[in-house]
Amino acid sequence: MQEEINVLIQAQYPLIYLVTPEEERAERAIAMIAQRKSQQQRVFVWTVTHGIVEYGQSRHTTQHNTVSPEAAVQWVIQQKEPGIYIFKDLHPFIDAPATTRWLRDAMASFREEAKKSLKKSIIVMSPVQQIPIELEKEVVVLDFPLPNLKELNQVLSHQLDQSKTRRTTTETREKLLKAALGLTRDEAEKVYRKAYVKAGRLTEAEVDIVLSEKKQIIRRNGILDYIEEDETLDSIGGLEELKRWLKQRSNAFTERAREYGLPQPKGMLILGVPGCGKSLIAKTTSRLWGLPLLRLDMGRVYDGSMVGRSEANLRNALKTAESISPAILFIDELDKSFAGSSGSSDSDGGTSSRIFGSFLTWMQEKTSPVFVMATANRVERLPGEFLRKGRFDEIFFVDLPNTQERQQIFEIHLKKRRGDIDRFDIEQLAKVSEGFSGAEIEQAMVAAMYEAFAQDREFTQLDIIAAIKSTQPLSRTMTEQVAALRDWARQRARPAASSLAEYQRMEF
Ligand code: ATP
Repeated sequence: MQEEINVLIQAQYPLIYLVTPEEERAERAIAMIAQRKSQQQRVFVWTVTHGIVEYGQSRHTTQHNTVSPEAAVQWVIQQKEPGIYIFKDLHPFIDAPATTRWLRDAMASFREEAKKSLKKSIIVMSPVQQIPIELEKEVVVLDFPLPNLKELNQVLSHQLDQSKTRRTTTETREKLLKAALGLTRDEAEKVYRKAYVKAGRLTEAEVDIVLSEKKQIIRRNGILDYIEEDETLDSIGGLEELKRWLKQRSNAFTERAREYGLPQPKGMLILGVPGCGKSLIAKTTSRLWGLPLLRLDMGRVYDGSMVGRSEANLRNALKTAESISPAILFIDELDKSFAGSSGSSDSDGGTSSRIFGSFLTWMQEKTSPVFVMATANRVERLPGEFLRKGRFDEIFFVDLPNTQERQQIFEIHLKKRRGDIDRFDIEQLAKVSEGFSGAEIEQAMVAAMYEAFAQDREFTQLDIIAAIKSTQPLSRTMTEQVAALRDWARQRARPAASSLAEYQRMEF
């Protein structure tokens, strides 16, 4: 990243917009670039409280009358020596006509000066991306990434020194570092300190404390959720083809797979009838592949309180996922998240279109091993761009379970609740529950248990059958939607069950 900023400065890009919540870290990185032999540029920092101050100097050395953003930009224009000018609090003012105008004037003047080898760049540093249309073409936007292992190592070493822990094996160190990936430098510092305070040491045993602190921080940020799932693939009935596909890719994110020449899996879309185990399969994949599962809550991405806020939310969430990678990014109900977003002018001022665009671009360009696992119920609500070949590695269609699969589902859920399942005639249960989804089978069983529990007795075959009979499954109440989805999927998606022929045979 430092290299990228360096290249932009060397190439005399006049205006760089650096998105980051970590001012100090970014400032330090820029100062290091400026101090390089080839560079030798002075660095000045503007804040709304002190105006322009040279980097590393006391605040009393402020350039007078540069507190207003316009005056500060004018001052920068007047400078006759190479410099990097960091503007920290500009984003709330950047839309003001005078500020935008002065910035455009500065761009023009820098370009002229560049011809005479006078290198000047303005770097706007902000936690959110907010650029007026007039400047859009002039700005290069960069995302300052979260600390990598090397940087976290400095933080950890500092904590280990302070806590006088001398001997840590390379493995312990690596585990402690990996556990903090995805946090800002400040957050990592706090987490290590807290783990140390709690346990009085920082060893391998504290990795779990670091991890659980990280999960809390990620949850507090509100957009991503760190999901832990104990279920394995064995707790899913049917979906054999999908399971096989997933098992085949268990080691797809290893170095060995790269050396073999395999591409990194990008993601999968699971389409299907509600309640047939789409979310369940996403969750169990995390265990199967041994990768953390992060759920992206699109509902929480949207935030109308400030222009650019939603984009910043998405950007931050994706940045966190990338820094924790290899990881699985789970988006439930993709159809709801992006419904109608391919239209250009929405009631929300185009926010959902922009979010959708940013997400697609990210999916297209991402190089980090973040596997996107998305689910959707309604294909007609899904923007066509998602369904285009190559966007996902595979689109699977999860249909209602057939008789054999229903048997498996009954078995799984009965075993979960009772040890003695021989007293049930599972074949019969599977027969009478034709048209039921996995979720509906589970619900019928729970209803049967409640019935028996209220009468203070053990639940029986007959209780389950009665519950099934009194349930109207979705496949009956939503026959048309289910048929339409099937029709669509028949041509375009891969069946999650064993074979296409099998579910084509099924009729409801
Ligand atoms: P929705 O589209 O409504 O979110 P979904 O397809 O994601 O539904 P899940 O949430 O995964 O369905 O399923 C709900 C519950 O139903 C699961 O937690 C599980 O207990 C049960 N279930 C569904 N399908 C299966 C299955 N094939 N095997 C075992 N249990 C299942």
